[in-house]
Amino acid sequence: MLLKIIVLFFVFIAVLGFFGKMHWLGGKRLTQSRCKSCGRYRIGTSPCPCKKG
Ligand SMILES: [Zn+2]
Repeated sequence: MLLKIIVLFFVFIAVLGFFGKMHWLGGKRLTQSRCKSCGRYRIGTSPCPCKKG
């Protein structure tokens, strides 16, 4: 019973680390897709709102 709780705990930590790594990769990609004129973060490949007028 106790061993089962410990295994579940380690699985939980592994899942947290996996999602943390995914979030870190997403954040790095976001910093690379900033607008060159105003510096705001762009979402996807859509152009920055500052260029629409
Ligand atoms: Zn912009």
